[in-house]
Parts: sequence; C-alpha cells; structure tokens
Amino acid sequence: MREMLKKIIMDNRELTKKGRVADYIPALSKANPEDLGICVIDMNNNVYTAGDYNKKFTIQSISKTVALMLAIMDNGEEKVFNKVGMEPTGDAFNSIYKLETKDIAKPLNPMINAGAIAVSSLIKGNSSEERFERLLSLFRKISSNDNLKVNEEVYLSEKKTGNKNRAMGYLLKDMGVLEGNVEETLDIYFKQCSIEVDCVDIANIGLFLANGGTILETGEDIVTEHVARIVKTFMVTCGMYDSSGEFAIRVGIPAKSGVGGGIMGAVPHRIGIGIYGPALDEKGNSVAGYGVLRDLSKELNLSIF
Ligand code: GLN
Repeated sequence: MREMLKKIIMDNRELTKKGRVADYIPALSKANPEDLGICVIDMNNNVYTAGDYNKKFTIQSISKTVALMLAIMDNGEEKVFNKVGMEPTGDAFNSIYKLETKDIAKPLNPMINAGAIAVSSLIKGNSSEERFERLLSLFRKISSNDNLKVNEEVYLSEKKTGNKNRAMGYLLKDMGVLEGNVEETLDIYFKQCSIEVDCVDIANIGLFLANGGTILETGEDIVTEHVARIVKTFMVTCGMYDSSGEFAIRVGIPAKSGVGGGIMGAVPHRIGIGIYGPALDEKGNSVAGYGVLRDLSKELNLSIF
C-alpha cells in the first residue's frame, strides 16, 4: 500500500501545475501550490501516508459535512430539511442566484455555502462561542485529534472579505431560513471553515463516516448509521461542487472537497481518505487531489457503484 500511494503521488505531482491556489480568501494564497499528500486509514486502523501528508491546511467546505451532523443531532432531520434541500445545484459553491427563485425558497442543499450557513444557524448553544465550541468538540472527537484549532489568520481573513457569504446570510434571514443572529452564524461558519487539519485528521473523519458514524478506535457511536448515510449521500451528489456528476463516474467515492485544497473520502466499510493539494481547478477542487483519487479508486477498485 505505502509503495502504491508513493507512486500515485509521484504520478500526479505534475498535475499540481495545472491548478491555482485560492486567493479570494487572501490568507489561503500563501499555500505552496506544489504540495500533494495523502493518508489512507483502513478498518483495522492501519494508517498509510505518502507525500506532504503532514502539511497543515484549513478544512473549508469539508466542515459542512460535520456541521450537518451536529445540526441534525440538535434539531432532528425534519427541521433541518425544512430549512435546506437535498438536490444538487449544478452551480458554483458560492452561487447566490437560486435563492431568489420564488418556488424554491430555501438553499438547495447543505454542501453549498448558502445551505451550510443555514445549517450552522441551527447549531445549539447559549452563545455563539458555546455553539462553535460544541462543533469544534465534535471535530476533535471524530478526527481523534484533541488539538484541532482554528487558524486565526485564515478566520480573520475570511471574516474580513466574506461579503458574498454575508449577503447570503442576510438574504437567508429575510427568507425566514436562517435562525437567530446573522453575524453570529457567519462567525461560526467562518470559524468552522478555518479549522486547521492535516491529511490524517480528515482521513479519520472519512473513516468515521465509512464506519457508519461509529469511532473505529473506541467503538463510540456518535451518529446513527442513517445520519452517516445522509452525509455520504450528499458527498456523492454535491461533495465536489458542480463536478460531482463527473467525479461519481470517474472515481465513484463519496468525497468532499474544500478550497483549502483538502479532499475527504469515505469508502463505506473499507477506508477513510485524506488528501491535500492546494492547487485548485476552475471549480475549486484540488486538481491533483482529483487525479490521486481517480488512480486510487482504480487500483483498489473503490467505486461504490
Ligand atoms: N470558506 C469558504 C467559503 O465560504 C468555503 C468554500 C469552499 O471550501 N468551497 O467561500
């Protein structure tokens, strides 16, 4: 396995030149576009790594999967899906225009920014600090890493420049979708996106989902199989933004990407995958990370279809 991962990283390193590091959040532009790393963890808790697997990056949109689980735990499925739909959009992750379509009246799914902001407003707690702390505790638990924390520079950078997300927050409030105070919710959303991880951390979260919502190491059930399945299904239909359809055909693994360059994969009952490659394609997915997953899927016959 180790040799195979090493070779896959080597074969795809060249692809990093085809992408660009995100710079619409200024602090993200400091990443090295040539970085590429992977971690795979199997059901016996064997950890395999290659390349720049221990470089730190911010989790960004991958956090949407975890926030969704907590919102469902806090409110139940019915309430959450009253506020946010279950359909892929075919639009960019930060698109705003369908929110104005009268017959929809809620964000189409929880993996786009509008849907994720609505979901973060549903996380319970007595203050915005407590609400975020509860979410961070869940991240720490399912990544088996008690040291996870927010990268303050990225958080402040996004808070300062996140005007489109802010616009969506206020629009969602006006539509009656977003609960509570808009700025508090945006603060939780910006912080959750700025949690700093490495490939091992997100491979562990992928493993937790692959294992049906139970932490493999401790046997602790965190969410039901049903909730874990909801998250993995969203990963298939919406996890790679508006590339999700093609990705399902070419790779066939439930996966969620983030503009920090991470991709988390969860192959049910088999492995959790964490990939880092900050050079992104035009849709916002790690360009070489996509290639790595395609090769890995072929080598290990991982497509769920
Ligand atoms: N924090 C980022 C944003 O809101 C997350 C987007 C992403 O990773 N696709 O723009």
